[in-house]
Amino acid sequence: MDWLKAHKNDTILIAVLLILGGALALFLLLTRQTGGTARVQVDGETVMELPLDKDAQVVLGEGGRTNTLVIRNGTAQVTEAGCPDQVCVRQGAVQYAGESIVCLPHRLVVSIEGGAGSGVDGIA
Ligand SMILES: [Zn+2]
Repeated sequence: MDWLKAHKNDTILIAVLLILGGALALFLLLTRQTGGTARVQVDGETVMELPLDKDAQVVLGEGGRTNTLVIRNGTAQVTEAGCPDQVCVRQGAVQYAGESIVCLPHRLVVSIEGGAGSGVDGIA
């Protein structure tokens, strides 16, 4: 019954591949929905990466040249800043990959990477 044995192994292999494929798809789907990462860059250098699914508040910079970055409900926002133009504060919250908050006077960039695309607001 060699033929049957070989055939059975093929079936198991296919089943395993299907399960792995399903798990991978599920993993990608889940990781996509849990939101991305806020990458904080100062002067072009990444100084911090904060997951958007974990609430946090950090004060960036020093000596009056500060930006308060708040991560809340999957969004990133500069709530306070010592810069003269306050553009970064007025930009409000960002949450989708590709969005960013820029503070030119402080050479600060907060960019959202990975995570949810647009149109998944209802899930959270
Ligand atoms: Zn600013």
